[in-house]
Formats: sequence, structure tokens, C-alpha cells
Amino acid sequence: MEAQKVSTSSASLLAVRQTDLMGRARAAAEAARNAAVTVDREGRFPAEGFAEIRKQRLLGIMVPRALGGEEASIGEIADVCYTIGQACAATGLIYAMHQIKMACIIRHAKGNPVLEGILKRIVDGQLLMASSTTEGQAGGNVRSSDAAIVPDGETVTLERKATVISYAMEADGIVTTARRAVDAAASDQVLLVLLKSDYTLERLQGWDTLGMRGTHSEGFTLRARAHPQQVLAEPYDRIHGQTMVPYAHILWGSVWAGIAAVATGKAQNFVRNAMRQSNGQMPPGAPHFTQAVSTLRNLRGVLASALRAYEAVMHDEKAIMALDFQSTITLTKVQVSELATATVLAALRACGLSGYRNDTEFSIGRHLRDVLSAPLMINNDRILGNLATTSMMTPLPASISG
Ligand SMILES: Cc1cc2nc3c(=O)[nH]c(=O)nc-3n(C[C@H](O)[C@H](O)[C@H](O)COP(=O)(O)OP(=O)(O)OC[C@H]3O[C@@H](n4cnc5c(N)ncnc54)[C@H](O)[C@@H]3O)c2cc1C
Repeated sequence: MEAQKVSTSSASLLAVRQTDLMGRARAAAEAARNAAVTVDREGRFPAEGFAEIRKQRLLGIMVPRALGGEEASIGEIADVCYTIGQACAATGLIYAMHQIKMACIIRHAKGNPVLEGILKRIVDGQLLMASSTTEGQAGGNVRSSDAAIVPDGETVTLERKATVISYAMEADGIVTTARRAVDAAASDQVLLVLLKSDYTLERLQGWDTLGMRGTHSEGFTLRARAHPQQVLAEPYDRIHGQTMVPYAHILWGSVWAGIAAVATGKAQNFVRNAMRQSNGQMPPGAPHFTQAVSTLRNLRGVLASALRAYEAVMHDEKAIMALDFQSTITLTKVQVSELATATVLAALRACGLSGYRNDTEFSIGRHLRDVLSAPLMINNDRILGNLATTSMMTPLPASISG
């Protein structure tokens, strides 16, 4: 009886916490929405959205309570990404990228006092962390690094050609991959956590893109000097499989689902509006709205199933690295990005010229430009190519439910 009371009260506490979190996410989304058009037009960091995200103290929510955080789950963070992603895709994607890096540090810091100190500073100061994996001409090959960590007295140094770092100038720190040592193989990587005082950035290229303009993802030469314990002891290949890929694919996917949802919402309003003006007659584009609803539903299904699959194995190191889970979570990115793009295109066709124009309440242009980054962000061709051999070795399922 006593145990039942305790579990009921912790369930209601969780419900209160979730409501509070979603309320805070909606406040941040409102600020992001109000600035979204200007941020996109000017191709600049969404400062207004992040001022509210900081005010709502949403940057450190995943951090353990012992270090000042709220221990938010991946499902809760995915909902925050979805909510903000509907308002301003760039703000949502930046928030997702920050949380992906947070997940890597939190899971793999393993009692390292320097890294725990950084986590505490992130919560206290609501610091925003950027990500650097893309290097030189290697494109989206995250599992290969050229620049190496070099020991120098009491410190370590790193100099890398970081061709794309979103919001690098506005971030308070950067989490970067690097080769373990100058004599290590390119795939023998580590993760290094840097705060702003640890590095300098020299601009290599700007960011004038079709969409996701507010991510401000310029290229830099990154020069860093840090305490050796700012390098995570866990090899990056384990961090990649256990945390980086699952979090990236689920949280990016949640932002893309947000873009797909807002476009579908506009299509719904367009169809309703058209019906009101024609005595209840469906406009000719209405079937495309149904199509958008259908692909959005599939997209949500794929994401929810990936989330459940990850939650089921996340504390089991063997199951998480098994081929079955790794293929599922890797393919999630391909499926979700394609479904999000298809949904926005269907919404555009439902709205017709009103969606194509940039000056109506049904404009789909920004959402389409933003979502077109999804299949390219770690290119789907690269992912499908890399999985071809694995897929050849995987037996086809013997039943529908198994
Ligand atoms: C909005 C946005 C924000 C980003 N932010 C960051 C960031 O903060 N930090 C960061 O480090 N990076 C960031 N990136 C970069 C991203 O992580 C990838 O590195 C980048 O999208 C890969 O670009 P790419 O197409 O040039 O490279 P590639 O993946 O190398 O692809 C180049 C071309 O080669 C083809 N290709 C590649 N491999 C194969 C293969 N095996 N089989 C068949 N075809 C293949 C692809 O189809 C593509 O046409 C961001 C990207 C975007 C779009």
C-alpha cells in the first residue's frame, strides 16, 4: 500500500514536471516564432529564441540533479525540439545539436571531475555548446578525423579545419571530435569538450544557404588548448554508437517533424478556409493535405518506434551496439528526413499558389527550404551506401510481429 502511494505520487510529480517543461518550451517557441522570418531573411543566429530558452533554463535540463540539472529524458527533450522546431526550425536544430552534445558528455564523463565541473557551469550559466565533426574535405564522414590531439606540457592542443560549425561565434563552447594522437588511425577518435576561453576561431567560409539559415553554420580553423581531462576517456566509436547517433537521429528527427507538422497545419487551415469560401466544397488540392497528414503520421510512428527501441536498450551496452539496433537507429535518420520532406511538399501542393507565395499566411517556402537540409545533413546516400553490406548480411524478417 505504502509502495503504491509512493509510486502514485512520483507519477504525478513526473506529470507536473512534464507539463512545466512543455509550458517552458512553448514560451521559448513563441519567442522563436516571432523572430523566425527575420532570422531566416538575415541568415543570423536566432538570438531572441535563445534569450527565452535561457530565461526558461532549458539548456541544462538533461544534466543530472546532483550537478544542478533536471535529468530530463530523451523523450522529453524530443518534445521540446518538436515544439521549438514548429516555431523556428533553425532555433530547434540549434537546441537539438546542443542537447546531442550534452548527452555525449553526461553519459560518458563517468565521474571525470573536470567534465562534471563543465556540466555544472553549463547549467548555472545556461551555456550553449556547439558541435564540430565535419572536417576538411571529408564531408559527412563523422567516423574519421584528420587533426590530432597533441600533448603540450600540462595541456593538450588541437588545430582543425572545421568546415562547418553551426552558431560557432555565438556558442559558449564547442564539443569536437579529433584523432586520438598524431600516430593514431583516422578512425581512432576522441571527443574534446572546450569552453570559449579554450579556443580561437579563424573564419574560413560563410553560410549563405537555401534554408536553415539561422543555424549560421560557418567554417573555421579551430585552435584549442585545454586540460587533458577535457578529452573524454571513452573512445569516440563507443560514444558514437551508444549516444551520438541515437540522440542525433531522434532529436534532429523531432525538429524535422516539427517543420512537417507546421506545414501540415498551414495546409489544414488553407483547406478549411477554401471550404468556408465555397459553401463547404473541398478545394482541388485537398487530397494533398490528406497525403501530408498520412506521411506526418508515418514520420511520427518511425520516430516514436526509434525512441522506444533506444529506451529499451540504452542501459545495455551489448544490445545497444548490436547490428540490429544500430541499423534501425541509423535508418531512422533516412526515413524521417525523407518523410518530413515529402510531408512539406504535399502541404505545398495542398496550398497551391498561396503556399508558393512568400506573402500569405499559408506560405510554405521557409519550411520547404529548411526541411531540404534534412536528407543532406549526413547525406542519406552516404548512410544507405554504408549500410549496404550490413543489409546484405541481415536475414529478412520471418513474421510481421517478430
Ligand atoms: C543545417 C546544417 C547544419 C550543420 N551543422 C554542423 C555542425 O554544427 N557541425 C558539423 O560538424 N557539421 C555540421 N553540418 C555538416 C553535416 O554534419 C555534414 O558534414 C554535411 O551535411 C555533409 O555535407 P556534404 O554533402 O558536403 O558531404 P558528404 O556527406 O560527403 O556528401 C557529398 C556527396 O557525396 C555523396 N556521398 C557521400 N558518401 C557517399 C556514399 N558512401 N555513397 C554514395 N554517395 C555518397 C552524397 O550523396 C553527396 O552528394 C551541418 C549541415 C547542415 C545541413
